[in-house]
Amino acid sequence: MPNISHNLAQIRARIHGIAKKHNINPYNTRLLAVSKTQPASALIEAYNAQQRDFGENYAQELEQKARALAHLDIIWHFIGPIQSNKTRVIAEYSHWVHSIDRCKIAERLNKQRPSHLPPLQVCIQVNIDDESSKSGIAPTELDALIACIRALPNLNLRGLMAIPSKSNPAKAFDALQALAQQHHLHTLSMGMSGDIEEAIAAGSTIVRVGTAIFGPRAPQHHTGANHGEQ
Ligand SMILES: *Cc1c(COP(=O)(O)O)cnc(C)c1O
Repeated sequence: MPNISHNLAQIRARIHGIAKKHNINPYNTRLLAVSKTQPASALIEAYNAQQRDFGENYAQELEQKARALAHLDIIWHFIGPIQSNKTRVIAEYSHWVHSIDRCKIAERLNKQRPSHLPPLQVCIQVNIDDESSKSGIAPTELDALIACIRALPNLNLRGLMAIPSKSNPAKAFDALQALAQQHHLHTLSMGMSGDIEEAIAAGSTIVRVGTAIFGPRAPQHHTGANHGEQ
């Protein structure tokens, strides 16, 4: 069994160490615990070690955990691919959505965000490498998507997110940082267990860390979950 509170302490110390080394304020970087596939008990263990931000990438799993843990003041981040038939659940249970890559999805989230809740905090996922993944919008289409989101009252555009290819993450992180700066966006959701140093050095404000906190994930059987309309 992984020792979650120990792992959390280590990763927090690592974030501080990296920030210090690169002359960056360590409080600029928020730690998002990516809890996909983990049981609620693992999230509770992290919560008891002061973790509040949790990331999920399947809508149904988000709904289940958010309901089961509704008594805790958890901040839920949706970080996975978004199918249009899942936007209602995502709009209801998330505080943040990192993975918007189409205006249509933004419009659905805006419409379905319950009126008693504050605006959804959102990031646009950018396909910064133009190779490894099909998720994310091309940088050339970013202007139009920003304009789309800024016109939606129930979404608050915070920044950009990317999952770069393994080959040269540092270059991709720098490119994402430059894009965010160009568009006056302050949130940079980038960096995972394997590349947080490069991400923080490039100005990441949210690192999304799963394995280094919760240990390796079991193989997934989300039959059909990623085959819907994309
Ligand atoms: C799973 C996942 C992570 C975390 O990856 P680790 O390598 O386990 O830290 C980060 N971001 C996204 C979008 C993910 O799907």
